[in-house]
Amino acid sequence: SQYPAYIGRFAPSPTGPLHHGSLLAAVISYLDARKHQGRWLVRIEDLDPPREQPGAAASILHSLEAHGLHWDGEVRYQSERGDAFEAALARLADKGRLFWCQCSRKQLGGQPVYPGTCHAYDRPRPDCAIRFRVPDREDRFDDLLQGWQSAHLGRDYGDVVVKRRDGPYAYQLAVTVDDLDQGITDVIRGIDLQSSTFWQRALFDALDAEPPRYGHFPVLIGPDGQKLSKQNRAPAIDDTRPSHNLHQVLRFLDLDVAEDRPDIMLAQAVNAWSRATLMSRDAIIP
Ligand code: GLU
Repeated sequence: SQYPAYIGRFAPSPTGPLHHGSLLAAVISYLDARKHQGRWLVRIEDLDPPREQPGAAASILHSLEAHGLHWDGEVRYQSERGDAFEAALARLADKGRLFWCQCSRKQLGGQPVYPGTCHAYDRPRPDCAIRFRVPDREDRFDDLLQGWQSAHLGRDYGDVVVKRRDGPYAYQLAVTVDDLDQGITDVIRGIDLQSSTFWQRALFDALDAEPPRYGHFPVLIGPDGQKLSKQNRAPAIDDTRPSHNLHQVLRFLDLDVAEDRPDIMLAQAVNAWSRATLMSRDAIIP
């Protein structure tokens, strides 16, 4: 094919049903994958049961199907991936990259960068979070949609929690292990996750793997200027009006099409899709 193999994904946390912001994220990652004749995977990031809503995963999948967003292969659930996350932790521990941290939120006093207090504890001890030690160096990557990004891992980011004190594997670890395991080549997601990319790239490196390419699109802003997200209770999309919802999303992307069957709308949008459309945008505001 004209393009090298491409594997993309949409990776929602099932904290609530799909809303307009997450539909936009699904559509953008779908269009980019299909435009590159790639595979598009769906992964449910159900790592933190107390934050999840019963039935949300099924509802998200139903909405995707109702909107013609058909994924490849089986849906992956991170709740079933404990062995893989544990194996990655063991590898990182063998390399001396983990330490066991007892610092409370209060002790850390809201400092944005972890000060290294527990560095010496490189052996398991009870009642601890596990942190990954970032290398003390600069990192840079060419964001597919935002251009060059750089940061100093030690100074700007610091050591990140990979397993929480109360048990769950942390997002940064799980997303890296699964993006690696699923052979993801292109991660297309909202710009609110751009800062996480530095930690994820550092974790890929520590696991002796090449990171994927990353592209971060500007996020849908609600009328109150807030990011539309499940946390601030954006309304669920109405699965009985898929063409209406897709028209709305495609209009934000300057890709509106004169059709009203979801599959045909998406096929036409794939033809018209170009990353350049998003690169010139500050934010996507309805
Ligand atoms: N599960 C994360 C979320 O819903 C997104 C993960 C990702 O795309 O890297 O916010």
